[in-house]
Amino acid sequence: MNLSRRGFFKLTGATFAAGALAELFGPSNAFAADAVPEMRIVGATETTSVCCYCSVGCGSILSVKDGELINLEGDPDHPINRGALCSKGSAQFNIRNVYDPEDGKLILNPARQTKVKYRAPGTSEFVEKDWEWAIEEIAKRVKDTRDRNYEAVDENGVTVNRTEAIASLGGAALDGEECYAIQKFMRALGVTWIEHQARI
Ligand code: SF4
Repeated sequence: MNLSRRGFFKLTGATFAAGALAELFGPSNAFAADAVPEMRIVGATETTSVCCYCSVGCGSILSVKDGELINLEGDPDHPINRGALCSKGSAQFNIRNVYDPEDGKLILNPARQTKVKYRAPGTSEFVEKDWEWAIEEIAKRVKDTRDRNYEAVDENGVTVNRTEAIASLGGAALDGEECYAIQKFMRALGVTWIEHQARI
């Protein structure tokens, strides 16, 4: 069909008008709102958090209902990501929960590690330990490493009070106050190799 620009507007205008009249006067079984299912976060408690993965530090909102995490999404009020999350950040939900491939129900992620696993030097098997044992063991080894490698003065006789045998690496979810406490603790030990992943 050969159609001029004016003819095109006339035709599309008439088509639109016909559609609108049909909507107004034609049979209608339901309002659009009836078809919208209730949002699953209705009645949930919301908590804000920071993504644990990378140094961008995007904010998220976690919805909890009946003690279960039911939703995780970007925080629109967060100045860094303004509601957006990358695919990795969106997948934070699956650190705790996954949908059962059998019946589609929400279940705890069976691969999530919640207990201390220890593999002793020279062995190939991990054994389960309790948290008290792990904290004490870490403290013991940190102190031992620090004491064995502490330098009060360097090779030129300059006072340095340091240990170069320990390094500290901060994670993306640490906030300013936590970083401050870690920094103080590391400096008190004499640690000089201090890095932090996030730049927030
Ligand atoms: S959502 Fe993506 S970009 Fe944002 S902090 Fe997490 S991993 Fe980084």
